[in-house]
Amino acid sequence: MAYTSNLDEFKAWITQRYPEQKEYLQATFDIAKDVIPVCNANEKYKQWEVFKRLCEPERIIYFSVSWLNDNHEIEINKGWRVQHNGLIGPYKGGLRFHPTVNESVLKFLAFEQSFKNALTGLPIGGAKGGSDFNPKGRSDYEVMRFCQAFMQELQRHIGPYTDVPAGDINVGSREIGYLYGEYRKINNRFGGAITGKDIEFGGSYVRTEATGFGLVYFLDDVLKQAGTSIEGKRIAVSGAGNVALHTALKATQHGAKVISLSNSRGTLFYEKGFSEEDLKWVIDHKGKPDNILLSLNKKIKGAWEANATPWSAEVDIALPCATQNELIGKDAKLLIKNGCKFVLEGANMPCNEAAQKAFTESKIVFVPGKASNAGGVALSGLEMAQNATFHKATYEAMNSALQEIMANIHQQCVKEGDEGDFINYAKGANIAAFRRLADAMVAQGI
Ligand code: GLU
Repeated sequence: MAYTSNLDEFKAWITQRYPEQKEYLQATFDIAKDVIPVCNANEKYKQWEVFKRLCEPERIIYFSVSWLNDNHEIEINKGWRVQHNGLIGPYKGGLRFHPTVNESVLKFLAFEQSFKNALTGLPIGGAKGGSDFNPKGRSDYEVMRFCQAFMQELQRHIGPYTDVPAGDINVGSREIGYLYGEYRKINNRFGGAITGKDIEFGGSYVRTEATGFGLVYFLDDVLKQAGTSIEGKRIAVSGAGNVALHTALKATQHGAKVISLSNSRGTLFYEKGFSEEDLKWVIDHKGKPDNILLSLNKKIKGAWEANATPWSAEVDIALPCATQNELIGKDAKLLIKNGCKFVLEGANMPCNEAAQKAFTESKIVFVPGKASNAGGVALSGLEMAQNATFHKATYEAMNSALQEIMANIHQQCVKEGDEGDFINYAKGANIAAFRRLADAMVAQGI
C-alpha cells in the first residue's frame, strides 16, 4: 500500500473503491483534508497507513428483515450494522430507520461516529446500523413486529463488550424498548447491549436529553471563548425530533430566543421565541398528532411556511438538528448575509461541503456534529458503565458529567484548531479524534 501524501491522491484512491457512495466519500474527504497534513508530519502514522486503514470499516453486516404487517402480508426490509472501528472500545452507535438508509449513509455515519466517540474520551468504538423501514404511518403493533424481526438477526452480532446499538432518527424510546425486549428474551440476559433504555429497566438519567442539552453546553463554551454569551441571542433550530426539541428547550432555559422548528413539510417561525412551556408540551406530545408543529402553531399563532427551511431567518446562531445535508451552500450564504455568526451541528453532517466552506471562508464559527452533538453517545457510554456495575447514578451526577465531557471536547477542539485569530473547530475535532484513534491503532499492531 503506497502512502497517500496529498488530498487529491487520497480522494482518487477512495473514489475508485466506492464510486457510488457519495455520503461516505463526503465524510472521508472532510476528515482527510485536516488529517493528511498531520500524517505527513508524523513518520509513525505514514508508515502505518493509519488514515487509509481508518477509512475501511472493520465489518459490515447485511441481513434481510421479514415481518407481518397488520393485513397479514409479508413485508421485507433491508437491515445493516456497520462496525466501523473497535480500536478504543466496543462498537457503539445508533440505529436509524428511514427510507433513505443505505450502505453509503450508514458507512458515513459509522465513520463519523468513530471520530465522535473518540472525542468523548470514553472507551467506545464507532458503529451505525439501521433499516430502510419507515415507522411513520405504521401501527404500534407493526413497529413492534418489525423491531422484533430486526433484532432476531442483529442480536447475534451485538453484546455489552462487542457492539452496543442505541437510537437515531425514528428510533426512540418505543423502538428501543421493543428491540431490547427481543434481545433479552432471545439471550436470557440483562445487560448494556443497547442504550437509551427506559429509566425503569437499565436506562440512564439525562440520556434522552443528552444530545440537545450537550449541544447547548458546547454552545455556551463556544460563546464564552468568543467573549459573549447565549443571553438574548436569536437562534434558528431545524428539526422537531428529540435533538431539536431538547436543544430548543435548554437554549430557552439559558435565556436565548429560539425562533424556529421544522420538519420535512415546512418550518414554524415564531418571532417571540418559543416558551419553555410550549417546548415541554411538544416534547410530551411528540409523535401523537401527524404534524405536531401545526398543532403547536394553533396554540401560539406563529407563522407556518410549507416547504420552507429555517435558514432565511435573521439570527445570531443556527443549530441544524434535522438530518444530513439539510443546510446547503446557498442557505449558508443567506445566513451569513443576515448576520449569523455561529453554526453548531446538532444532527450528523447537516451542513454540506459548500456550506461548511462558506462558513469557514467568512470566519463564521462552525462546529461539526462529531464535536457538538457528542453528548448523546457520551451519555450512552455512561449508561453502559452503569449497566456493567448495576448502578443508577442521579440526574444531577449525569448532567454534570455531560457538562464536563462537552467542556473537554471543546478544549480539545480549541487546542488542535487554534489558528491565531480564529478557532477552526472542524479541524480541531478531526485532528484530536484522529490522534486518539491513530495512536491506538499503532499501539495495537497490525
Ligand atoms: N445516534 C446518536 C449519535 O449519532 C447516539 C448514538 C449512541 O448513543 O450510541 O451519536
